[in-house]
Amino acid sequence: MANDVSPMRKPVIVGNWKLYKTQQEAREFFAAFKPLVTAAKHCEIVVAPPFTAIAVCVEVVRGSSIGIAAQDVYWANEGAFTGEVSPRMLIEAGCRAVIIAHSERRQFFGETDESANRKVKAALAVGLTPILCVGETLGEREAGSTKKILERQFRGSLAALTPAEFSRIIMAYEPVWAIGTGRTATPEVAAEAHKFLRDLAAGTFTAEYAACLRILYGGSVKPENIKGLMAQAEIDGALVGGASLDPEHFAAIVNY
Ligand code: PEP
Repeated sequence: MANDVSPMRKPVIVGNWKLYKTQQEAREFFAAFKPLVTAAKHCEIVVAPPFTAIAVCVEVVRGSSIGIAAQDVYWANEGAFTGEVSPRMLIEAGCRAVIIAHSERRQFFGETDESANRKVKAALAVGLTPILCVGETLGEREAGSTKKILERQFRGSLAALTPAEFSRIIMAYEPVWAIGTGRTATPEVAAEAHKFLRDLAAGTFTAEYAACLRILYGGSVKPENIKGLMAQAEIDGALVGGASLDPEHFAAIVNY
């Protein structure tokens, strides 16, 4: 999953299952999904199940190119932190990546740019690929603050990263007003935000590092709108919530 510093940005399609699917349901999903994506070599496929289904998912995707990610992580590798799961535990369980600072974590569980930054560094330290989420709320967009919010989230969540560390992250632009609402950003609106984030990356690191950064779009991605989104040069993949729960829908998105 690591991003090499190379001009090619291989697309990544990530499914975020949120608080859905038992172990049995996860097995049933992959039994239906795997045969539908065996020919998909054009993109990386990643699924982020809930913690309790990670081991089962790792077992059933073994031998395929599908990667398993976690939906969150704590920054300490061990300690008296009841309820948390560490980066080292995720690696041992077979995860390759971890979603960090999803808007639902920011909105409902007190995630901040500072905690996201600690998680990004901790994930990188054990070799997990952080999938860092940023995005503005509807109120922030309507107030004309989108760029200010994205810049604050970018700088805060990625503070003090070395260029080598930065080259290993994936970013997801997820406008909060488009998540689970059925209201997708138009490809052009998404691409404009991606371009802004890439320019920030160029200013913070170098143009070469920025050119290699994979930026995924997330927010009501469906089989019907993935083609238009992926036609934008700035969009390097998708982070998919609701539509990743159905094997046929998610396969149609992967096979855009
Ligand atoms: C998400 O969970 O990150 C997401 C984008 O959800 P949905 O696709 O359901 O809008």
